[in-house]
Amino acid sequence: MTNRKRPSKRAIIKAAGGKCAECGTTNNLTLHHILPLSDGGTNDKENFVILCDEHQKKLHGIYKKKSDYC
Ligand SMILES: [Zn+2]
Ligand SMILES: [Zn+2]
Repeated sequence: MTNRKRPSKRAIIKAAGGKCAECGTTNNLTLHHILPLSDGGTNDKENFVILCDEHQKKLHGIYKKKSDYC
């Protein structure tokens, strides 16, 4: 597949089980890039892990404005 469009957040979350990889919550889910785009990561679903808002913040160590991808 050579679909270069950003995959839909909903579709990725659903495909990956629909819960935070760290705590298992199903609330406030966001997608985290395993390899950041700035380091050559892609928007392929293989490069995403689902995290809740709280775990995104923990992982990034800063408060981040809620975003679909970070
Ligand atoms: Zn979590
Ligand atoms: Zn992130």
